[in-house]
Amino acid sequence: MYNIKLEEENIPKKWYNILADLPFKLPESKQTSEGHQLENLPKIFSKYVLEQETSTKQWIDIPDEVRDKYAQIGRPSPLVRAKRLEEYLNTPAHIYYKREDTSPTGSHKLNSAIPQAYYAKKDGATKLTTETGAGQWGTALSLACSMMGLECDVYMVKVSFQQKPYRKTIMNLYNGNVMASPTNTTKIGRETLAKNPDHPGALGLAISEAVERALAEEKTYYSLGSVLNHVILHQTIIGLETQKQLEYIDQEADTVVSCIGGGSNAGGMMFPFMKDRLKGNTETKFVAVEPDSCPSLTKGEYKYDYGDTEGLTPLMKMYTLGHEFVPSAFHAGGLRYHGTSPILAALTHEGYIDPCSVSQNEIFEIGKLFSNLEGVVPAPETCHALKAAVNEAIKCKHEKESKNIVLNFTGHGLLDLAGYELYLDNKLE
Ligand SMILES: *Cc1c(COP(=O)(O)O)cnc(C)c1O
Repeated sequence: MYNIKLEEENIPKKWYNILADLPFKLPESKQTSEGHQLENLPKIFSKYVLEQETSTKQWIDIPDEVRDKYAQIGRPSPLVRAKRLEEYLNTPAHIYYKREDTSPTGSHKLNSAIPQAYYAKKDGATKLTTETGAGQWGTALSLACSMMGLECDVYMVKVSFQQKPYRKTIMNLYNGNVMASPTNTTKIGRETLAKNPDHPGALGLAISEAVERALAEEKTYYSLGSVLNHVILHQTIIGLETQKQLEYIDQEADTVVSCIGGGSNAGGMMFPFMKDRLKGNTETKFVAVEPDSCPSLTKGEYKYDYGDTEGLTPLMKMYTLGHEFVPSAFHAGGLRYHGTSPILAALTHEGYIDPCSVSQNEIFEIGKLFSNLEGVVPAPETCHALKAAVNEAIKCKHEKESKNIVLNFTGHGLLDLAGYELYLDNKLE
């Protein structure tokens, strides 16, 4: 069986909350003495997601309306065996990919955008502001807001805005209001532009702009697409479905692979499997893959840092390259973030997750190979996971081991063709 699909009734009824099961104490978020970062949280987030952020309840109910929307966007998403890739590699390993690219917006981001818009509305908001790097999160939140009858303002990192003009068009189709960050609609944006009118933008800066607007406007909340505990909680729908799909074919995951930007797809895919590993029931290996040009897990420091450039967010303990880090304009925009989810950082620090990094050329090379063999064009972000999964499969070949390698196929690359074209023309820096 190559294409494992589940019926709608198998959409999980609860999200899994790993905070209930961590074998260590997660370092708490802090605020600075002059800042009001923690006190400001209720002004920028709905009370419902804030409650989820620190909840230690193991299972959290998915509201019926959210489950209904999950069904409307095509969940459960398929789990597919990459048979031709296995044959090409001549490996005894089995490679499975969870197809989050089948979502209408083309990535896993809608899994959290929908509940975030739902809870904001339930708490009386009429608008959400947010940032977007590659454009995937802004696209998902624009659609989710449209589904829930909310307005949506999106601060899009300027380099991505320029590299991917069609992203803006899609967001506009979903009624999202898109601006190239830094903008002159915020104090931090104006200050940045005064210093450098050609600033390429950075995710941390776009976050500062979106948070500043949410603090300034009534009935406006801010929404983050990754990093935070509640975002990963929503994304556990991915790992929970994958577990059911593997169960259906009577298989177990030996290795679980995800790319990592802020950590939402990695946490969402890994944590349901991590639950069994933490209990000592399995020895599943977890691999988190990042770009070598934005290497927070492999080269960053494990310390307290802000989630944004300006210091409007609380200090979180994470692997970070520093909140003022501006990565080079490489093409996997969704992985251009200086920090990581505090839970994933702690699990990496404790040795439960193996981090690694890959280069830009390697990812487009594997993207082309995968497109050829499997027919689905992967997003550059997704290629990071693919590359590491292929490395694992090659190891299995040398060691003559038939393992099940499961990777999160976070999105398609049909709006990333400019990057692929540069690769094909041999013009990538
Ligand atoms: C946003 C995004 C990522 C990275 O974000 P995480 O929060 O780390 O998951 C990866 N792949 C795709 C396709 C994305 O859109």
